[in-house]
Amino acid sequence: MKKIALHWKILIGMLLGFLVGYAFTAAGYDQFIKDWIGPFGTIFVRLLKMIAIPLIIASLIKGVSDLEDIAKFSKIGLRTILIYVFTTLIAISIGLALVNIVQPGNHISDETLQELLAENSGTAGAKIENAQKTMNSGPLQPLVDIVPDNIFFAMSKNGLMLQVIFFVILFGVCMILIEKEKAQPLKNIFDALNEIIMKMVDLIMLFAPIGVFALMAKLVAETSRPDLLVALLWYGLTVIVGLALMILFYIMVVYFFTGKSPSFFLKGISPAQLVAFSTSSSAATLPVTMERVEEHLGVDEEISSFVLPVGATINMDGTSLYQAVAAVFICQALGVDLTFGATIMILLTALLASIGSAAVPGAGVIMLIIVLESINFPSELLGTGIAMILAVDRPLDMCRTMVNVTGDATVSMLVAHSTDQLGDPLSRELDDHYKA
Ligand code: ASP
Repeated sequence: MKKIALHWKILIGMLLGFLVGYAFTAAGYDQFIKDWIGPFGTIFVRLLKMIAIPLIIASLIKGVSDLEDIAKFSKIGLRTILIYVFTTLIAISIGLALVNIVQPGNHISDETLQELLAENSGTAGAKIENAQKTMNSGPLQPLVDIVPDNIFFAMSKNGLMLQVIFFVILFGVCMILIEKEKAQPLKNIFDALNEIIMKMVDLIMLFAPIGVFALMAKLVAETSRPDLLVALLWYGLTVIVGLALMILFYIMVVYFFTGKSPSFFLKGISPAQLVAFSTSSSAATLPVTMERVEEHLGVDEEISSFVLPVGATINMDGTSLYQAVAAVFICQALGVDLTFGATIMILLTALLASIGSAAVPGAGVIMLIIVLESINFPSELLGTGIAMILAVDRPLDMCRTMVNVTGDATVSMLVAHSTDQLGDPLSRELDDHYKA
């Protein structure tokens, strides 16, 4: 019998989760879902997060120390950052163009606005407080935050991934700088560690369809006011159409620059996209993205081990597109005029905000507040603006995370192609369990 590909299994799990969640909630058994099904979703996310830091350490040290010289490393680094900035600018421009064409803010009635406010003003207050803390810390704080003061502390916190990356790159560079024979034993250890962790990803992914099923069921059971999704339909659709255009952009870029067909690309990356969709976290999805990109899209580990962890933390095309749409939407709905200068400011701050957004659920909204503050959005309306969009934030977060992850995969293929390190996909024994 022909085996079902992994992405189909995950998709089926997702749909079943949605249906079961809906049916049980409608029958008044939402607590059952939360108590008995939801925890399996949490276990799946924890398993992924559990291996994220060891994976970054092992693969990045292997990647950097495999490089013949440091000049190559700076070449890869510079290319990566430039392409990341470029794709993010494209994303924000698509968002700004769409929101100005569709004008979703003009479809909101006063009545809906009041309802949205009543539902979400508490959460909005907490998010604003959070954003204010980030803003009060000075312009160079993000740079300071990259350097750890205690690497073991940084390694114990998934949120400090950039600090770990900083340390590990320095470590890898020093491995190149010392005598080859002296570095070799350690390099062998990291090579082995990397292989083992990649195998762990394979095993964890066998559990993905169940994990995703549980995550979706729990999400549906926890959605308190699905009717509000309809009230924000135009806004939601604008973001979703923008994100879809972004995926199209990636497919085209991959095709034109690397010659890889859309079906090859989508088949290779789709399990990571689906996990991103269900977890709303590019950090949690990172192990899956790395496995898919290396073993199914043919990107050399030397490239993926650097480009992907950095991308998961700083490259968020979906998030920046969403921030551009949301900022303009809020201004439209609350009657705040936007000058051309303010629109350019949104473009620039959304670029920085996407770099600063953490790769976890809901991080995009916090940085959106900073985008709004940068255009001198009236502070008395800030709470209203944020409360307005929170009702649909989770579904949009799911979609934008999917785009964030696809963007990272695209850039890794482009960089690998530019250095002649894009080959044929590997095939591992365990793949037989889920031919994809
Ligand atoms: N959830 C997104 C991510 O992890 C960030 C965001 O837009 O909130 O990529």
